[in-house]
Amino acid sequence: MIAQRPADADVGELAGVGAKTAPLFRELGIETARALLDYLPFRYDDLRSPTPAARLGEAGGEENAVGTVTGVKERRVRGLEIVEVALTDDGGDPFVAKWIGRNRYVYGRFHEGMRLFVRGRIERNFSGPIVSVTHYGVLAEGEEYRGELVPIYRASKDLASRKIAAVVRKNLPRLLELSNADPVPASLAAARRYPAQRDAYRAVHAPRDPEEARNGRERFVFAEFLTLATAAQLRRSERERDHDARALRVPPDLLERLESALPFALTVSQRRVIGEIWADMRRDVPMNRLLQGDVGSGKTLVAAAAVLLAAENGMQSALMAPTELLAWQHAAKLAPLLLPFGLGVETLFGSQSARSRAAALEKLGSGAAALAIGTHALLEERVGFDRLGLAIIDEQHRFGVEQRARLRAKALSPHTLHLTATPIPRTLAQSVYADLDLSTIDELPPGRTPIQTFAVRTSRLERVYEFVRANVAAGHQAYVVAPAIDESEGNLTSAVAEAERLAANVFGDLRLGLLHGRLASREKEETMARFVRGELDVLVSTTVVEVGVDVANATTMVVLDAHRYGLAQLHQLRGRVGRGAAKSYCILVYPDDAGDRERLEILTQTGDGFEIADKDLRLRGPGELAGTVQSGAANLRFGDLVADVDVYRAAKSAAETIVARDPQLSAAEHAGLRATLEAAPSTRALVFSS
Ligand code: ADP
Ligand code: MG
Repeated sequence: MIAQRPADADVGELAGVGAKTAPLFRELGIETARALLDYLPFRYDDLRSPTPAARLGEAGGEENAVGTVTGVKERRVRGLEIVEVALTDDGGDPFVAKWIGRNRYVYGRFHEGMRLFVRGRIERNFSGPIVSVTHYGVLAEGEEYRGELVPIYRASKDLASRKIAAVVRKNLPRLLELSNADPVPASLAAARRYPAQRDAYRAVHAPRDPEEARNGRERFVFAEFLTLATAAQLRRSERERDHDARALRVPPDLLERLESALPFALTVSQRRVIGEIWADMRRDVPMNRLLQGDVGSGKTLVAAAAVLLAAENGMQSALMAPTELLAWQHAAKLAPLLLPFGLGVETLFGSQSARSRAAALEKLGSGAAALAIGTHALLEERVGFDRLGLAIIDEQHRFGVEQRARLRAKALSPHTLHLTATPIPRTLAQSVYADLDLSTIDELPPGRTPIQTFAVRTSRLERVYEFVRANVAAGHQAYVVAPAIDESEGNLTSAVAEAERLAANVFGDLRLGLLHGRLASREKEETMARFVRGELDVLVSTTVVEVGVDVANATTMVVLDAHRYGLAQLHQLRGRVGRGAAKSYCILVYPDDAGDRERLEILTQTGDGFEIADKDLRLRGPGELAGTVQSGAANLRFGDLVADVDVYRAAKSAAETIVARDPQLSAAEHAGLRATLEAAPSTRALVFSS
């Protein structure tokens, strides 16, 4: 039984929140009292124990001192008041507290014999330590100094952490009544030595010591991860329950036959992931696997191996890509791989002629074609398969849950393989793609020349363009990527303006194209197609240059305002070049005054997408990468997949145990977990949609 909880209240109804401050709370996303309870401090100022005067300044940062006033010096200098108070601490050592402020700040407030608590940065001069005071308090006669851990909340320009802390403190008993259902089963909380949820809220908002605060916070992180991992585990167990997929037979010589049809040997990674995929497809449980591998790592071939196995078992496959160009490129690469096995490929695009579409539909419907490749045009009702057994979804984050479901709905329970060229670290992948199994290609085929990467200051941009010109003169093509479309986006370099400038002053004699997200999609595809056909020398664009676009003749990638991008995204952009035999270059241009060179240097040193993603995750947090994969599941409120990875692992294994023992979450102990899953939009989508 979950006890009836008091209703939530608008944040404006809390003590200390008035008509002026309520909107400031809302701006921070705190709309209600319960949201305030969940607004956890991100750190604490430790004001508990004073530092003896003799040791002030050793620790660095702000420190606390307590002492008795022995003298006061006050001056006014042009509207500023400077107050210097000499004190002696309880060990008899002297120190000075100093205030500098505007009119009537602390002037006249202190006198000899007073006991003060002060906090601030420490300077030391010949006569001893000086505290530049940021906080202070006057202790009453005989009062013991009782310092506290001061919670620091994420604040805004107009709403200081101090104000938030004051409102939390004033309303804490009331807020604690509003605790949500607790997702952590009591036995699990006890085993992990977590306090009751309510005590954990108290511990994070008003901790007695740092350990209590840390443990309290960890409880919320664990609860969040547990909820997410349970959602994923429920999805998985549901998928595993029905046994309604076609279990395929893998002929013993299939890998050998595949390899003998190729002009090269499979890499170790390719061989391993093909094994993982085929093992899934042998089961009568539908495969749901993500294949991730850097650009150029050879995912196409792995996809072909999956198609081949399906076809060997008389089943058709469908591959859905986010744009026509990408679909078309897949077709161009897959058709020759499948040809030696007599497998026909049909394409389905929005812009296709009625006639060729009708022919494709016929071959898919009759089962004559082994593979359909297309855009979301594949989802249309009239696209029917004879025996669809495998759905391949390229860059799946660019399709909605519903679109993916519609493709799979074209068969009873097809095996599903997702492809992505966005390498993300394993823990992040597991939470973002919660119920997918993960296969990773972590090496490139041998014999690639690494892309040479430079970080260059904007003041040398004209030199960069000379370099581009030389490469064009040698018969190659180049990309120039800018962060903004036009001038409306502040001081970022705009693609439109840069294209105009290049056409007028720099590359007047070259064939330039312009690509950005506000162009009609027809126009975009046409420009891209011209670049693919070699009819443009330089393509100026925003980041719309598709992941996966493959123009072997493009050898130079110039990224303007490179400091604006995450490393993973820059790595993706770099992947547009280096696709052919010629040596390729990536030039990261950053403003002379940007202090970001070190971050960009990482890219000049490594070409390994996973290493880069890992560094990016550490430098910028999961939000950035999660943005790349656009998933609600990665919008963690409390947890951090880098810092809290151990907690994540523990939560994941707890979730597996819970779902294995109680797949309906019907045990009383799991009521809170169930209620939490039903209430959270992101997990609800995970659990309750397909
Ligand atoms: P991805 O789709 O992962 O970006 P592709 O499948 O397009 O990569 O492969 C990139 C290039 O590498 C293609 O030209 C492909 O023929 C080649 N390739 C793939 N596997 C191998 C291999 N094992 N050895 C050599 N070249 C390979
Ligand atoms: Mg590819």
